[in-house]
Amino acid sequence: MSLTIFTHQDCLKHDMGPMHPESPARLKTINQALQQAPFSQSLVWQEAPMATKADLLRVHHADYIEKIFNQAPSEGYLQLDPDTIMNKYSLTAALRAAGALKAAVDSVFMQGPPKAFCAVRPPGHHAEPHAAMGFCFFNNIAIGVSYALEKYHCERLAIVDFDVHHGNGTETMFLKEPRVCFWSSFQHPFYPGTEMAGKPAHIHLCPMRAGEGSQSFRDKVDKELIPLLDNFKPQCLFISAGFDAHQLDPLANLNLTTADYAYVTQKICQIADMHAHKRVISTLEGGYNLDVLAEAVTAHVQAMLAIQAL
Ligand SMILES: [Zn+2]
Repeated sequence: MSLTIFTHQDCLKHDMGPMHPESPARLKTINQALQQAPFSQSLVWQEAPMATKADLLRVHHADYIEKIFNQAPSEGYLQLDPDTIMNKYSLTAALRAAGALKAAVDSVFMQGPPKAFCAVRPPGHHAEPHAAMGFCFFNNIAIGVSYALEKYHCERLAIVDFDVHHGNGTETMFLKEPRVCFWSSFQHPFYPGTEMAGKPAHIHLCPMRAGEGSQSFRDKVDKELIPLLDNFKPQCLFISAGFDAHQLDPLANLNLTTADYAYVTQKICQIADMHAHKRVISTLEGGYNLDVLAEAVTAHVQAMLAIQAL
């Protein structure tokens, strides 16, 4: 019974300025919490490799990739969108974050433990095929999923995105890919300004009103998400694990609790037990209260381990 953590020191060097909420301290706090957790002996730590341009090309446009590589600053900051800024370490960190997902796919489909958590930053789920957006450069989870489709010839993969913001980039990348079932819960109306109508059958949006809270979230998990996944029978489950829907998060207002993250994780892992040879790959997205982040990631990883033990 073990779980692989993919991370890298390079992910701590990406820095968007002293006032930016997506700070290196987030990842430092998470890794400390996992190292000190009572289940730490069950964690296998692996260094995240760097994704290649070929890995990025499965979901990003070639001209966007070239632009990021060419514009990466050697000193100072480069602003790509109102919220997304590069320093001289950002490109390497973004390649490590994307590479973590690829390595996690190889790990869970080959010899490794069936579960993995990618403790990486920058996050990825807002990154569009042609653009950086909302703290994200490359769409890490989409890079992992597209790699699994190609390398392991998967016919059904599922992505659950419970970050408080809609995973707009991930949705765009799989809009025409019915082998990928995408479910995203998010505060609405809210950033990034989601268009709700006209989605294909494999894209499932779960909007929630500000203040809606725990019970409503759990109802949606039980009545919408889990029946959907049970019917779809994914061969591996991917989680865009953002913790910014927590009631103490400074950026949003969905009022979830740490226990809710354990709850949804347990439910997802039960589906993985039934249909996916226990395979679950989770990656960090948002979450901006450092104390909450440490607690919620610990609860999330613990839930992944506990179900595995049954
Ligand atoms: Zn978010």
